Amino acid sequence: MKTDFILDAAQAIQRTILANEHTLESLDREIGDGDHYINMKRGASTVVDMQTELATLSPEAALHKIGLKLLSTIGGASGPLLASFFMSMSKSLKEHGYDSPTKIAAAFAAGVQAIIQRGRANLGEKTMLDVLIPVAAQFESLAALGHDAKFIANALTKTAEAGMRSTKDLIATKGRAAGLGERAIGHIDPGAKSCQLMIEAVCQLV
Ligand code: ADP
Ligand code: MG
Repeated sequence: MKTDFILDAAQAIQRTILANEHTLESLDREIGDGDHYINMKRGASTVVDMQTELATLSPEAALHKIGLKLLSTIGGASGPLLASFFMSMSKSLKEHGYDSPTKIAAAFAAGVQAIIQRGRANLGEKTMLDVLIPVAAQFESLAALGHDAKFIANALTKTAEAGMRSTKDLIATKGRAAGLGERAIGHIDPGAKSCQLMIEAVCQLV
């Protein structure tokens, strides 16, 4: 993985967030407070605006800087969670390198672990983790089997989609939607939707 890929990914993420304004805003209005689109838009534009500065950095330094910046720019529950994802991913790349799908998969999984720890949530609680946990597990297993990047990217896109859809029938036990009880059933979790969109956008670049 090169820093150029991170910069392209940031632009692709910004495009998909902007293109899904209505979806993200209405999902968070249904089971949250309606700010998820604004939070994600602010985070994506902040990273895209850092392009020149990031271009001179190694991938791990770029991801660390992105994490630090997101901590202070995205509000809400999702800000610190996504910030810790990028910082832990950076740490893993620094320690183990980034020259193979296996190492990138390990870094992605380390980022997801950081979200689990920071948010004290896990699979099945109607959050972004219902997308991220299955994607991380599949990324690691397909990379270990030696599949190529394109094959892995196609599989992860489908798994992210299934994870996002799975949140529809769940009761939320973490985050703002937790107060809604059974009323949250029938609505897709906004953070799961934005993560699915970001994963799809990045996988399309592979
Ligand atoms: P807020 O909930 O503070 O308004 P956002 O609307 O930006 O923040 O983000 C809401 C999303 O954050 C939820 O849809 C859910 O996916 C995610 N989320 C909330 N709490 C947690 C948690 N403890 N662990 C993982 N994800 C969480
Ligand atoms: Mg919200």
